[in-house]
Amino acid sequence: MFESERENLVHTLMKKGIKAPQVLDAFYKVERHLFVPESMKFFAYKDNALPIGKGQTISQPYTVAYMTEKLDLQKGDRVLEIGTGSGFQAAILYAMGMKVYTIERQYDIFLQTQKLFERLQVRVMAIYGDGTIGWTEFAPYQGIIVTAGSPKVPDSLLRQLAVGGKMVIPVGTKSSQELHIITRLDEEHFELKKEPNFLFVPLIGREGWDNE
Ligand code: SAM
Repeated sequence: MFESERENLVHTLMKKGIKAPQVLDAFYKVERHLFVPESMKFFAYKDNALPIGKGQTISQPYTVAYMTEKLDLQKGDRVLEIGTGSGFQAAILYAMGMKVYTIERQYDIFLQTQKLFERLQVRVMAIYGDGTIGWTEFAPYQGIIVTAGSPKVPDSLLRQLAVGGKMVIPVGTKSSQELHIITRLDEEHFELKKEPNFLFVPLIGREGWDNE
């Protein structure tokens, strides 16, 4: 279902500058319409964020592709995602052959997406909790992707990044963020690049925004 729409979306991503074949392949494979509410499925292959309930969103496909490309992963790498949401980003990483660990702080969303992962046989490790403190059990990670906007980069996540690994995280105010692309050079040194104009729902937790 929706094969030609999926192909068109991949062409849109290529036109916007996404080049990594493993990222584009994953967008051919993963059926985004299964990750959005039934009422939204005809909009699933437009390059837009969509509401998924509880005030949360499934990110825009271009943003998912861009952040994934910036992680610069190799097949089999361990990747930590903060903000499971609909599960689409995790499914893209899984389709690329990554070992995926994902954390969601809203219990209803966590349960719903856990069921979807089982139904679609997306074999990722998912937990309910505060992702700002990471998941020490499986650290270090070659990639960390934060899919909610934070006032700062959580120290816990920096500590759990492997040497040579990359983290992508939107940092700024609640109404606008810059995407920070961080590479861990060695135990103590990190390289930081920034890209402007991103907008995500807030990252709420011990090392993120307070829950108002
Ligand atoms: N990656 C998701 C996808 O593919 O659909 C998009 C996620 S949505 C933009 C952001 C998610 O982050 C929301 O589901 C929100 O509940 C979650 N979130 C916010 N703060 C969090 C935290 N501290 N730990 C884990 N999840 C968090």
